[in-house]
Order: sequence, then C-alpha cells, then structure tokens
Amino acid sequence: MSQPEAMSCAEAEPLLPLVADGALDPDSDPALFAHLAACPACQRVVALLDLVGLFRLVVHFVVRSER
Ligand SMILES: [Zn+2]
Repeated sequence: MSQPEAMSCAEAEPLLPLVADGALDPDSDPALFAHLAACPACQRVVALLDLVGLFRLVVHFVVRSER
C-alpha cells in the first residue's frame, strides 16, 4: 500500500475522468500518474475521455445520483 507504483487499473479507473479533465496532476496524485505512465490501457481511456468529453456526462450523472 505504501508504494506509489502499486496502484492497479481498478483503483485508477474511477480517477481517469479527473485526469482527462485536468483536475488531477502528478503533484496531487503521484501514484495515479505513476500507474498511467506504465499502463497503455489507462492512457487510452484518458485519451478517449478527453477526446469525447465523456467525463462531463459521468460527473453530471454521479453528482445527480448522490443527491
Ligand atoms: Zn491501468
């Protein structure tokens, strides 16, 4: 748990929309970016989210469902 590089895709996935939005940076979540740097699958997810702006729909949905 103490090693930043040990983050798994399952842990990284919920945070990828925030990366696509630029809401997270390597300083705020080094473990996530260490995983991203080594994981082509998650890089592709971020690229897709960034490309289509899908994160906005997801965030909108999550905010609504939390109320
Ligand atoms: Zn991954």
